Amino acid sequence: MKIPNQLISDSDESFRDHFSAVTEDGKRNWFYPQKPTGKWHTRRVWFTVAILTLLFVTPFITFNDQPLLLFNVLERKFIIFGIFIGPQDYWLFGLTMLSFMVFIVLFTTIFGRLWCGWACPQTVFMEMVFRKIEYAIEGNATKQKLLNKAPWNTEKIVRKTAKYAAFLIVSFLIANLLLAYVLGVDELSKIIREPISEHIPLFSGIIAFTAIFYFNFAWLRDQACTVVCPYGRLQGVLMDRNTINVAYDYERGEPRGKIHKNQERTEGDCINCHQCVAVCPTGIDIRNGLQMECVNCTACIDACDNIMDKVGFEKGLIRYTSENAIVKKTNKLITTRVVGAMVMLVLLWSVLGFMVVSRTDTQTMLLRAPGSQYIENSDRSITNLYTFKIFNKTNQTINPTIRLEGVSGKLIFAGKPNLALDPAGMVEGTVFIVVPAEALKKRKTTLTLSVFQGNEKLEEFETTFIAPEK
Ligand code: SF4
Ligand code: SF4
Repeated sequence: MKIPNQLISDSDESFRDHFSAVTEDGKRNWFYPQKPTGKWHTRRVWFTVAILTLLFVTPFITFNDQPLLLFNVLERKFIIFGIFIGPQDYWLFGLTMLSFMVFIVLFTTIFGRLWCGWACPQTVFMEMVFRKIEYAIEGNATKQKLLNKAPWNTEKIVRKTAKYAAFLIVSFLIANLLLAYVLGVDELSKIIREPISEHIPLFSGIIAFTAIFYFNFAWLRDQACTVVCPYGRLQGVLMDRNTINVAYDYERGEPRGKIHKNQERTEGDCINCHQCVAVCPTGIDIRNGLQMECVNCTACIDACDNIMDKVGFEKGLIRYTSENAIVKKTNKLITTRVVGAMVMLVLLWSVLGFMVVSRTDTQTMLLRAPGSQYIENSDRSITNLYTFKIFNKTNQTINPTIRLEGVSGKLIFAGKPNLALDPAGMVEGTVFIVVPAEALKKRKTTLTLSVFQGNEKLEEFETTFIAPEK
């Protein structure tokens, strides 16, 4: 778990030899973090209100008769800010993911784990919803510890039942929220409007995700960040000495030591009160330096600021800062690495923007049937045989017609196929293209064709037409 460029106060790194969530005898170390209070916590509460409102309202927002955001991984259909990305647009999806990853690298290099502390659904729900329910029902950290050690009396049964029932209800809400983003609210609401027996897979999905979220927030908790999440493990390679993080200013704090009344203080500003450790939801001591377990929740900033206030020292012993700011008293946010990532991101977004703007609603593949030759008709026209596939790249039904451009002639569909395209659907078949011989000057002619819906041209494409040599 060693992370390079760590903000560390001395050479003792023995704390890295063990995992804070596991005791010496290999058992789970259950954390009872104290309730955080302070400026940063209040900011996070307001931010949480905003982000949860956004999270719960977004599935109901529609744009062009479709959800603003949809991540239907089961059918490989995605809608990102109103842009439908179907199975044929895998390149668009790939490019979006690639630019998202570059953005993550850039963001993390500059702001460290700001995402983890403020916006990650795991931290937001765990610290701002489930933890709050726990404090409300079981009391503060000390009361929780006592309750867990107490025998199963009436009070314990009532409090534990109330807490886990509340956890279950919130887990159920989160499961519905997740499925609203995957399937859309219309699909999800069928379970309310129609008999459950007609939607067994959907109902099973809600139950399964409720169980997963309940397990996550009732039992897994901090270990979702410290053991499961891959993002936390990438921090070591994404951050550098200029990255902004929640950090302990060891230049100012060390050597640490208790406050003694009526004695001149020779130590640093850290009074070794352990309040920063007591509030930490992942059970670490920030004074050991940057650690993978730190989710930048800011609880230790508030705890330390409260102590600094009480003892009359300047606040900010733990604060948002960087290794360079602590040691060299200077920080450079725009480094070569940041500029490189920015350039790459601008390039990717430019390509992505161009591809979105130039994207057509349909994608047609029309190829001459393998092994087929031209047919000379008695009316001096030439016929070629083609196979075709038309893909619908939208989330709406399309009734296309195909027309020849710039040359007289006609298309005769074999078996009169129905060209109606379902949302993200595909239609295929065989078509004869008949062109008057006088319109063909050479053996190989490039024909231009267009796909229309009504009078709206959706796509233009070309194919090769073969005729006898003149
Ligand atoms: S060290 Fe501080 S910021 Fe990091 S997780 Fe613990 S309390 Fe939160
Ligand atoms: S809360 Fe501040 S003063 Fe107390 S131990 Fe932590 S860093 Fe030191």
